[in-house]
Amino acid sequence: PVRVRFCPSPTGNPHVGLVRTALFNWAFARHHQGTLVFRIEDTDAARDSEESYEQLLDSMRWLGLDWDEGPEIGGPHAPYRQSQRMDLYKDVAEKLLAAGYAYPCYCTTEELDTRRDAARAAGKPSGYDGHCRDLTAEQKEAYEAEGRTSIVRFRMPDEAITFTDLVRGDITVQPENVPDYGIVRANGAPLYTLVNPVDDALMEITHVLRGEDLLSSTPRQIALYRALIELGIAKDTPAFGHLPYVMGEGNKKLSKRDPQASLNLYRERGFLPEGLLNYLSLLGWSIAEDRDIFSVDELIAAFDIKDVNANPARFDLKKAEHINAEHIRMLDVKTFTEACGPWLKAPFAPWAPEAFDAEKWTRIAPYAQTRVTVLSDITDNVDFLFLDEPVEDEASWTKAMKGDPVALLTTARANLEAADWSDPESLKNAVLTAGEAHGLKLGKAQAPVRVAVTGRTVGLPLFESLEILGREKSLARVDAALA
Ligand code: GLU
Repeated sequence: PVRVRFCPSPTGNPHVGLVRTALFNWAFARHHQGTLVFRIEDTDAARDSEESYEQLLDSMRWLGLDWDEGPEIGGPHAPYRQSQRMDLYKDVAEKLLAAGYAYPCYCTTEELDTRRDAARAAGKPSGYDGHCRDLTAEQKEAYEAEGRTSIVRFRMPDEAITFTDLVRGDITVQPENVPDYGIVRANGAPLYTLVNPVDDALMEITHVLRGEDLLSSTPRQIALYRALIELGIAKDTPAFGHLPYVMGEGNKKLSKRDPQASLNLYRERGFLPEGLLNYLSLLGWSIAEDRDIFSVDELIAAFDIKDVNANPARFDLKKAEHINAEHIRMLDVKTFTEACGPWLKAPFAPWAPEAFDAEKWTRIAPYAQTRVTVLSDITDNVDFLFLDEPVEDEASWTKAMKGDPVALLTTARANLEAADWSDPESLKNAVLTAGEAHGLKLGKAQAPVRVAVTGRTVGLPLFESLEILGREKSLARVDAALA
């Protein structure tokens, strides 16, 4: 059975790269009816935060990426927070030391630096040189008598390591490129290099799907796995698949600190989870050559790690917005109407709740659903219904009022006054005929009316908007514009 994991460190805000990794693991697990383990890699007390932990859980829930084992759910390998598993790592480190798979290393940082610089100058490999690999008991005692502390270093085998990456195919790494590496700090704190593969082993992970930035740690982890198997701690080495980099602006790697990378930004702008997941799944994968829009269920049904592309993926905000808009159109109108809720409240809508009118909102919502790209667009699109006076947008006024619309507005006002306000067609005719009287096409004729009533040059269909706002208010706004 397939067992995959999503194992973020709780530092900072969740970002899109992280979500893409979570999504691919989740889709892979669901496709194979496997298990998604959610593990929190919080072994770095200086950087980890409880707030970030809460945000990770909340983000996963919002996205609908459910996990089968992990925080709040538990499972057979609990606990799922590494900060609560320290005894396990200590035990494994001791076993690795006792069996000679790892050794204490007494080199100081200064010594390591000096030797590295010398190796570099001589054109030799500059990784750890194996200085403490084979110390005798006397040598170790002598170092300790000097008052030196030691880290635990893993002994890499002297042979090439080959594995088949699920995305990249066969990869071979020569031993001179993977020197022995630290797994426990001098103060006893275990490092990522140890705790991550140890937990993957203990949690019986079958497939490790993660970002390309971790590719270089895979040969080390495979070597460690072999030791864990010999010690009876691991069963099998998992398969590894490294997901392509996500490139941002200027074809540079999208960094965590890039504002575009923050998941919260998409949430606040009112992306739908299904729209965002649809878009993020296209970062390195595709469902079919000519298809961009699909549901989460279709993603699960089609997802195959072999179809993931090794080439860097480009993050394209416009495309993300386009895909989100398509998902908004697909909602049933009731779901859409409810989903907009947060953007019709403070702080997004300063006029709410006093001026909010549920009936008006329900009537305008279907028109809004065909127009907005993200749910937060809704606020500016409907505020004219709830404000006493339309927003004063200087630029819109100047634009719509150029060419002296007073004559036109006066005629339009007269026609509108006589129109049937229960019928948008009649309202449209009123403006159309006013336009004709002044030699203007409908588009030109309706612009000043729109600005007078809504405050903006663009927005929802005008005549439906007028009908919903009502005769009295609409005419008063035209009067105000004429005054
Ligand atoms: N905690 C690691 C990270 O956040 C996990 C890396 C992995 O998937 O092995 O990058």
